[in-house]
Amino acid sequence: MILHVKGSNKKLRKAVEQAAWYYAEKLMGKRLMAGIEITINLKKNLLAKEGNEGSAMWEDDGYRSREFTIELDTTVKIRNLLITLAHEMVHVKQWAKDEMYEYTNTMGLVRFKGEKIHLEETDYWDYPWEIEAYGKQLGLFVRFCEHMGFEKCDNMKEEAIEEFCDGYFYGEGEIDFTAEEVAEDAQSFFHSKMAGDHAKEYVTKILGAL
Ligand SMILES: [Zn+2]
Repeated sequence: MILHVKGSNKKLRKAVEQAAWYYAEKLMGKRLMAGIEITINLKKNLLAKEGNEGSAMWEDDGYRSREFTIELDTTVKIRNLLITLAHEMVHVKQWAKDEMYEYTNTMGLVRFKGEKIHLEETDYWDYPWEIEAYGKQLGLFVRFCEHMGFEKCDNMKEEAIEEFCDGYFYGEGEIDFTAEEVAEDAQSFFHSKMAGDHAKEYVTKILGAL
């Protein structure tokens, strides 16, 4: 994989570079990665100007793409930036593996894992490529933190796990889960016993306060 990281400062570029390599290996495997070139632009105020914390786009003809550009907003917390990077790398994987293809002859028509989807008839949150990206971003990030053994990552890891747990409280209807159940889900979602332990402690605390 050829990776260019541009903008911001050396320290952030290094972190982004390490995370991008880690995510790529987890998502694509060495063989697919070998032919891929990614440029990551770190930009200030992407969120303010374009309304998103990140974006990914292919740069060739869009069919089994090999060349991609990712843009990331640098005004957010580094934790959010690295989670957004994980999200955009899932999209890169979807294009590179030809799981996703945007028809060039029919505007707004996308093929995803064999299914044809009309963008206008579907809600953003129901796009299956987004469901996959949102579903994988936190797990990738937490595993990256553990892999790096960053001490600073402990806080970021805990916040990510808490965000995962918070999702249980946002559903409609009565609370019908126990801290143990959420802990079990968190442990398998993050592939980490530490995640399970932290989730249990966190959810127990909230349930006690409600
Ligand atoms: Zn997305």
